[in-house]
Amino acid sequence: MVIGGGLAGLTAALHLAERGLTPLLLEAAPRCGGRVAGGEPVTLEGTGRTWAFRAEHGIHGIWGQYHNLRALLRRHAIAPGLVPARREEWLHGEGKRVLRAEAGSMVRRSLIPAPFHYLGLFLRPRFWAMLTPFDLIGLPRVTASLFLALAYDPLCEPTALDGRTLAGLFDKWPPRLRAFIAALMRSGLAAHPEEVPLGGFLAFLRFYTLLRRDAWAFDYLPDDSGTSLIDPLVSAIQTHGGTVCTGAQATCLERTDGGWRVNWQQDNETHSREAKHVILALDAPAARNLLRESAATAEVAERLEWPQGLSTGIVRLWFSNAPRSSAESGICSGDFTIDNFFWLHHIQGPVAAWHAATGGSLVEAHIYGPQELLDQPDETLLARAIADVQRAYPELRDTRIHQTLQRNSPSHTRFSIGASPRYLGVVSPWPGLSCCGDWVRFPHPALFLERATTTGIAAANAALERLGQQPFPIIPASPPEAPARALQWGLRGVRRMVRTR
Ligand SMILES: Cc1cc2nc3c(=O)[nH]c(=O)nc-3n(C[C@H](O)[C@H](O)[C@H](O)COP(=O)(O)OP(=O)(O)OC[C@H]3O[C@@H](n4cnc5c(N)ncnc54)[C@H](O)[C@@H]3O)c2cc1C
Repeated sequence: MVIGGGLAGLTAALHLAERGLTPLLLEAAPRCGGRVAGGEPVTLEGTGRTWAFRAEHGIHGIWGQYHNLRALLRRHAIAPGLVPARREEWLHGEGKRVLRAEAGSMVRRSLIPAPFHYLGLFLRPRFWAMLTPFDLIGLPRVTASLFLALAYDPLCEPTALDGRTLAGLFDKWPPRLRAFIAALMRSGLAAHPEEVPLGGFLAFLRFYTLLRRDAWAFDYLPDDSGTSLIDPLVSAIQTHGGTVCTGAQATCLERTDGGWRVNWQQDNETHSREAKHVILALDAPAARNLLRESAATAEVAERLEWPQGLSTGIVRLWFSNAPRSSAESGICSGDFTIDNFFWLHHIQGPVAAWHAATGGSLVEAHIYGPQELLDQPDETLLARAIADVQRAYPELRDTRIHQTLQRNSPSHTRFSIGASPRYLGVVSPWPGLSCCGDWVRFPHPALFLERATTTGIAAANAALERLGQQPFPIIPASPPEAPARALQWGLRGVRRMVRTR
């Protein structure tokens, strides 16, 4: 049995079904997908027809190092037409002034190998214009802080970074570079510097950008994530003989002689079933609740550390015309309320069709807190997001035709796991119960969607090995580029020497 139908649970169930087992997957929500679930469509009239725009938890990027997720999609012919990211802007707002520079393609297409590829940014006069003289004086300090990530691999080795946050590292950084990296972290880790654990920051840097140029190359799904990713995954599970039960909330786990008994609520009725092996694929707050409320697991679960769940706000704005800038996405720093944005008519097929027919545009902006901001009423958040977009794109003033705000429950992971057994791992302290999810400990350097996928495969492998079946291989991350590898080797040597002394 698999409990939880987000990407991790669906991955685990599909791998079990591919080996001829018949997994039963329980998902509490009315539809599968968790943080990549699709939602209800918003409809607009235009050019004599009705246009439907399906909502989602938030648009997702599939990065260069997502080898296991990409392999899974290829094997099942899911989302074949991934859309490559082309241009990402950095917008910095100070009052009425908005500074902007393209920052993404210069890093991934740099001619200089990692970790020196960021020098590519300095070939752009617009990037220079974003910086103050203090930033130029402070560059060596910033470089030294970034290279800290070459000396530590917090996901694969124990480090003494616990309790330290990104804010500590930022202390003496110059203003605009601090704003840039803070915006990147809010966009990537959905949290502000005082909340971002230093280990999470270093893991993010290593996985997404510092070790390789192509790690920052990413793709979008060609449609909303429910339509292009989750619905086909559910169909693949069913085609291979698995069963997916939605609206089924697991309430308690009990040990039995043969394995586990899982109790769940569905349509106001209590159900229960026994399984030889159970895979827990919940978000961190839900996993903590289930394990603490089940007598068989409560005592150990009380002693574990659990990552915090974060809320997010997703604003969508429809305009009757399109912005002049051709960048399809961006991150925001300074006094912007929104943290990042995506012009969906450049990315998703159905929105592009509407744009072609009407000339209109649709932007999705994400607000990642702080919590005091997310606690504001809907009208306030919408008004602030609208003001931000119109300040950045003045040509869109008075052309807005529709807007929505979606509030996501606090299930998103504040990325804080490390290699310590204080965090729940794929192999759990309980026999016959393996765990997966983007917050679960596993010695593989991956985050978010790729972490959900790799831990999903690993959790399925634990069940397969127990049942005498052949496990699936997990594709390793591509190695660092040669200069990054050499520098990493040297810095780790220094770290070891200092520790020995
Ligand atoms: C706005 C936003 C944007 C993002 N963008 C990106 C991106 O661009 N790239 C990227 O890699 N990642 C991104 N992420 C992160 C990514 O969505 C997650 O890492 C990934 O979806 C986690 O999958 P999961 O299966 O581990 O967890 P979840 O998706 O949280 O799945 C857990 C599931 O368990 C179910 N559940 C909970 N309790 C119970 C219960 N008692 N019984 C049964 N079921 C239960 C939940 O309903 C849910 O479906 C983003 C996240 C957000 C919020």
